[in-house]
Amino acid sequence: MAEKITPRNVDYSRWYTDVILQAKLADYSPVKGAMVIRPNGYAIWEMIQQNLDRMFKETGHVNAYFPLLIPESFMKKEAEHVEGFSPECAVVTIGGGQELEEPLYIRPTSETIIWSMYKKWIMSYRDLPILINQWANVLRWELRTRLFLRTSEFLWQEGHTAHATYEEAEQETMLILNLYKKFVEEYLAIPVIAGRKSDAEKFAGALHTYSIEAMMQDKKALQAGTSHNLGQNFAKAFDVKFQDQQGQLQYVWATSWGVSTRLIGALIMTHGDDNGVVIPPRVAQRQIVIVPIWRGEEEKKQVLDYADAVKKELTKEFTVILDDREQYKPGYKFAEWELQGIPLRLEIGPRDVAKNGLVMVRRDLLKKEFIARDGVLQTVRATLDLMQKEMLERARKFQEDNTHQVDDYNQFKKTIEEEGGFINSHWCGSAECEAKIKEDTKATIRNIPFDRKAEKGKCIICGKESEGRVIFAKAY
Ligand code: AMP
Ligand code: ZN
Repeated sequence: MAEKITPRNVDYSRWYTDVILQAKLADYSPVKGAMVIRPNGYAIWEMIQQNLDRMFKETGHVNAYFPLLIPESFMKKEAEHVEGFSPECAVVTIGGGQELEEPLYIRPTSETIIWSMYKKWIMSYRDLPILINQWANVLRWELRTRLFLRTSEFLWQEGHTAHATYEEAEQETMLILNLYKKFVEEYLAIPVIAGRKSDAEKFAGALHTYSIEAMMQDKKALQAGTSHNLGQNFAKAFDVKFQDQQGQLQYVWATSWGVSTRLIGALIMTHGDDNGVVIPPRVAQRQIVIVPIWRGEEEKKQVLDYADAVKKELTKEFTVILDDREQYKPGYKFAEWELQGIPLRLEIGPRDVAKNGLVMVRRDLLKKEFIARDGVLQTVRATLDLMQKEMLERARKFQEDNTHQVDDYNQFKKTIEEEGGFINSHWCGSAECEAKIKEDTKATIRNIPFDRKAEKGKCIICGKESEGRVIFAKAY
């Protein structure tokens, strides 16, 4: 099997890459900045897709598909949008051996092409709302890339909705942010802080951007999802008006929102350990591996018959691997499935058969526990539920333990430098103070949490009045 994984405390960044390559989640491709998502990684993406897709549909959304290529003139229609995205775009100038009359941008995001279509589809208030989502790939010419967290081409979903009023658009933006929070916490077991982005950090072309922010094991922040209230900016750029109930023409209100394959990186960085990845049970395609242990033909038959029956019982609810490969020793198999993060391992040897039981090992705890054969399905179900819950709790405790409240700028710099983590400090709201902190410390405002206490204080930089604390952190 693979070489040793670099331990986290030796080099966190190498640990992350080692885990991904050795667990066969992804691999570097011949194209710089683009990666290959291998079957083990794609299985996690499929679980993310399945669950989010169901949640989108439960809240009234539908899927559609728009072209990969966007005419240059469309990209240029919304001033802030083009300024923000142009430097990150790849452009097609030749097709079929001919110079194109108009260059075509490979989508970095699809607002422009979608709003050009909404102009055709929206006439009256009766056509609203439109609640469309698209599952797609996008391309952003990223200079500093990292597997899953930031790649030039990535997979995502992008929701693009159209509404009659500001309030409705705002409601939609919040509905999705809460849906993301629920999914990321309840499925990926990653605790997140929901809040509003500062103007400097908002999406190019948005009125407001909301985000969920997570903390990785190296205490750096990761933006795990965003939801934007786009106001009427794209409707104005593409001249999309509707006739309201009073017969007046009005510009349409818009939202957009997305999460990407970055979430797989977040999962690895939140739960992984020095033995490999740890997949939360609810997003594991294969939840259980049974490793039978035997010596000689007689034991083999006895153990495999018993293991087969256990597998059959568990298969009623779970996907189970029975690893009966002859050419590998049990210890090797344990290490391989640990590396790949299968949530639960069951070991069955002749002594377990004699005692009518088996050994169970949770991937996150790696402790052996003897359980009874009777009721194995119930025991496994309860164990996986508990594991899911405890993974979230453990990550939440880590986040809380590494969140500091700081009121003095020298202390702030020291904490960022020596401890890292989230720093809750007062901020006056000015872009200058935000930029100074970024320049001095590389920390940025992750967001202004929705559930922050109303607490008067003084900006940590300029000393002016502040209404409450915001989260600062170094981020991926
Ligand atoms: P945005 O359209 O910039 O709001 O990004 C939408 C989602 O995609 C966010 O959840 C980001 O975290 C994620 N994302 C942005 N850029 C990348 C990238 N280069 N690789 C992977 N995910 C990304
Ligand atoms: Zn200030």
